[in-house]
Amino acid sequence: MPTSSSLPSTHRSTPGLVERTATGSDNYVWRRLAPLADILRMSTSKRSVKTRGRPRRQKFGNPRLEEQIHDPYRSSTKLRTPRRCPGCGATYLRGHWRWGGLTPPATATMVCPACHRVNDRYPAGEVIVSGSFAMAHADEILNLLRNVEATENREHPLHRIMDVRRSGGTIEVTTTDVHLPRRMGHALEDAWHGVLKTHYDEQGYYARVTWERND
Ligand SMILES: [Zn+2]
Repeated sequence: MPTSSSLPSTHRSTPGLVERTATGSDNYVWRRLAPLADILRMSTSKRSVKTRGRPRRQKFGNPRLEEQIHDPYRSSTKLRTPRRCPGCGATYLRGHWRWGGLTPPATATMVCPACHRVNDRYPAGEVIVSGSFAMAHADEILNLLRNVEATENREHPLHRIMDVRRSGGTIEVTTTDVHLPRRMGHALEDAWHGVLKTHYDEQGYYARVTWERND
């Protein structure tokens, strides 16, 4: 505790932490305004709220995607009758698309969101691969990405590669959904390490994954 004589009367220690008030000509009372831990918590509360409880590597995808009714390519209401997509043959039943027909077959048709995006040439995500290592192993990388797509697509008909472009020093793969890019990115990282970055737009409509390795 500092002595009153060692400090000017207007001095404050850490702002907001300790306050000194004059009680007489040369007598001061040091009063702690709040415990240090509380003050530190207040100064970082905004960050704490945003990151609380969220693992560094999102194992279960984009949390914003819980609100998929905002996806402009998805129906906001569940249709009562089964539908069949005339483009890919996927079947819609009780709010979900799946492979495999129904008995009796669905008579009504509806273009699924994946075919709709392909028709519109409007992807929901992309993976951008770059770097000298990546370019030297482009065929292996594309094989891996195709395998990830095939595995995902068996369970999720709407998860598909839309387009693959190789230009200059990059490979760009677009997808019909926002989940596939992240799965592809993790597969690349698991196979060859490198630098993986994942970004979702504010509404969770679009996923952008970049993976780079130079050596
Ligand atoms: Zn379809």
